[in-house]
Amino acid sequence: MRAVVYHGIDDLRLEEIPTPGIGPDEALVRVAACGVCPTDIKKIRLGLLPGPRVYGHETAGTIVKVGENVTQWRPGDRVGVHHHVPCMNCHYCDRRTFAQCAVYRKTGVTAGFEPAGGGYAEYVRVMGICMPGLVRIPDGNTWEEGAMLEPVNTVLKAVKLLGLGPGDTALVAGQGPIGLMFNRLLALEGVRVFGTDLSAQRLAFGLDFGASETFHGGGDAWKAAVKSRTGGRGPDAAVVTAPVDALVHDCHALVRGGGSVMLFAHTARGRTTPVDLSTICVDEKPMLGSYSSDFTLQERVAELVFSRRMDVRRLITHRFGLGEVPAAVALAEKPTAESLKVMVVQERA
Ligand SMILES: [Zn+2]
Ligand SMILES: [Zn+2]
Repeated sequence: MRAVVYHGIDDLRLEEIPTPGIGPDEALVRVAACGVCPTDIKKIRLGLLPGPRVYGHETAGTIVKVGENVTQWRPGDRVGVHHHVPCMNCHYCDRRTFAQCAVYRKTGVTAGFEPAGGGYAEYVRVMGICMPGLVRIPDGNTWEEGAMLEPVNTVLKAVKLLGLGPGDTALVAGQGPIGLMFNRLLALEGVRVFGTDLSAQRLAFGLDFGASETFHGGGDAWKAAVKSRTGGRGPDAAVVTAPVDALVHDCHALVRGGGSVMLFAHTARGRTTPVDLSTICVDEKPMLGSYSSDFTLQERVAELVFSRRMDVRRLITHRFGLGEVPAAVALAEKPTAESLKVMVVQERA
């Protein structure tokens, strides 16, 4: 089969590799669509892990083969794939910190080599630990919608951690694909959302996706505007969807006493920044983090995406073929005014 194999920093090559075999508890999926995700871009650009491996983890496609012990799935079933699934039976899972579970941290979907998602290939093998992460795509929905289940899940997990509801306000800093999903999912919880970004086009998208107002994030005017819209207090929470340290400080200063800041994009290790710790203690403003998906939200996410209450189709602006993965990664890394979510598409429906 064809696959885009990562060999080192910025070194992606379209190659012929063996189609993966499967074990008795596994499934083979023919990939139809795979989203380009910032966490993969980071690994490709910085060479964080040794090659060869095949990236791409926001995958959807058609099951073409199942192992003899698999009874729930059949060839022909259209599925969205989760590449991390928790054991649901350890100290971390019992406390709902699934992303810290040792089983969850293993990647259980692969096109070959060290498992790394494998979605930039014609076929992926879904290993036993990830079989519970398969989600059926209804007839009326697209593979691309199936490929968006995992990113929507990561955002809904963070929204649930914030615990906001009607009467609350939130600032979403950054109106890229992730920020727009926050807008919509917060709005569905009854939260009044303000969005900021540096791109005029993205500010317009922000309104389409459920922000009640958006503000240009340059200078200080947006802070005054958000304060004035929140009775002078500041929002109840802020979400930082870009890995910009100054934004964390701005948001932490802006939220009301007792309000929280959610860090969603600070995934790079080794970044430090001074914080006046009394703002956490005396002002009771915690900094929260959320990473990856929550298995227990899988059904809820499927319902939101497939009912199109969270309509992800409008997030997808650019499509590339398997042979164009480097271009897809480059666009996702350096978005244009009108680009949002980038997909690698092998089959349309
Ligand atoms: Zn992702
Ligand atoms: Zn566990």
